[in-house]
Amino acid sequence: YGGYRVPFILSLAMETLSDLQKDLEELRETFSSGKTKEECWRRSQLKGLLTLLQEKEDDIFKALKQDIGKHPAETYRDEIGTLIKSVDYALVGLKKWMSPKKAKLPVAAFPSSAELVPEPLGLVLIFSSWNYPFGLSLEPLIGAIAAGNTVVLKPSELAPASSSVLADTIHTYLDKKAVKVIQGGHSVGEQLLQQKWDKIFFTGSAHVGRIVMSAAAKHLTPVVLELGGKSPAVVDSLISSWDRQVAIKRILIGKFGACGGQACIGIDYILVERKFASTLVEQMKYFIRKIYGENPKESNSIARIINKKHFLRLKNLLADPMVKASIVHGGSLDEDNLFIEPTILIDPPLKAAIMTEEIFGPLLPIIPLEKIEDSIAFIKARPRPLTIYAFTKNETLKRRMVSETSSGSIVFNDAIIQYAAETIPFGGVGESGFGRYHGKFSFDTFTHEKGVLRRSFLTEFWFRFPPWNDTKLLL
Ligand code: NAD
Repeated sequence: YGGYRVPFILSLAMETLSDLQKDLEELRETFSSGKTKEECWRRSQLKGLLTLLQEKEDDIFKALKQDIGKHPAETYRDEIGTLIKSVDYALVGLKKWMSPKKAKLPVAAFPSSAELVPEPLGLVLIFSSWNYPFGLSLEPLIGAIAAGNTVVLKPSELAPASSSVLADTIHTYLDKKAVKVIQGGHSVGEQLLQQKWDKIFFTGSAHVGRIVMSAAAKHLTPVVLELGGKSPAVVDSLISSWDRQVAIKRILIGKFGACGGQACIGIDYILVERKFASTLVEQMKYFIRKIYGENPKESNSIARIINKKHFLRLKNLLADPMVKASIVHGGSLDEDNLFIEPTILIDPPLKAAIMTEEIFGPLLPIIPLEKIEDSIAFIKARPRPLTIYAFTKNETLKRRMVSETSSGSIVFNDAIIQYAAETIPFGGVGESGFGRYHGKFSFDTFTHEKGVLRRSFLTEFWFRFPPWNDTKLLL
């Protein structure tokens, strides 16, 4: 740095920090005022979000096209449409969710009554990722405001157009004294982590998840970590050819059609019986051509790689000669356009990075096994994934999958669809994270259920009190 630039950078950082302190003070004052606890405030915020999604639809389409080359249809399916559905669901459920729930008490407390009273946590921090910048920011926000909290949202710097839309619009549709968007990269993230929060909701990598958790420990702040991992898809050869076609289309959409493979619940790799592997590949090639055309690079239906760093990371996964040799379809890369062709690999070495790290891109390894039942041991030998997919009609296999494996969720005969289900909690287990949200689970995630017990002065049981004697012991 030139001598004059250091003070400039320092003063900029200090000003940002004091702005941040002012913002946090305002958010805490808003929470203390009690207004966010009112049902009408919560409702007005949810409705504001709904209006934002409706009125800013075009801006959201443009931002996601610019950031990651997503087609508006995919954006509507995975972000706008799903979010509108979630806000509607929260508006319908809100009154019931906010109401205290009666609880039973032991006879020793008779006469008395008890209830669980949901109360907001306070000021919460939401970190989101770049692959679904609206969904991963606003889905937890729905839960946070429905539960009556004030919020700081930090979207990912890797999707700058989307991040700007969030920062430029949220303050006009939502209470700006209660919800603030703070943009920035890891240094802003680190500054935010030094503050005291009542909850941190983090979506991102396990590496940063660890940083978040250790920063939160300092203030005993509870955290939710929505991480990723390698979600397998088991494909049983014993399904009919019609079912197989349906399965293959769903697999391709659950891989290449989910942000070009850059989705936390996207299919990472496939497990299949050896005798069926080549048939599966041939049919997949056919449907890839049908969906993306002869030259997928010209297709506007597949998202681009988010940036050069991730492009090079994916290129590196293919650099190992044994991995390269396992490519049976695709494999072409265009660095200038951040495009990677939908690529299928058969039997790459299990020790290669492509089989030990989360792929997060349009590369799909297929691992042949002797028997489909071996997939259970294969999955169990690895870190617990966010999701397991299995395409099968074999009820015994399904039962064994559910009882013998562990994952955030398990889906039979489809992929990605679970993200849109409000009644199923979304979240990981083990290395894929902890905590859960969507639907009422989002409300619960940002709520403390306070136990309230009301006892009367009537009736007293002598055996509850000292002095102790053997009769009391026997009772
Ligand atoms: P990331 O961990 O790099 O970034 C996530 C967020 O943390 C961003 O907002 C980023 O700015 C912030 N951040 C980065 N470094 C930080 C630091 N040192 N201190 C504080 N904040 C910091 O992850 P990513 O690249 O955005 O996302 C990819 C990962 O996220 C993948 O592993 C994927 O599976 C996972 N993911 C999970 C879900 C889910 O819902 N479970 C959804 C999307 C992505």
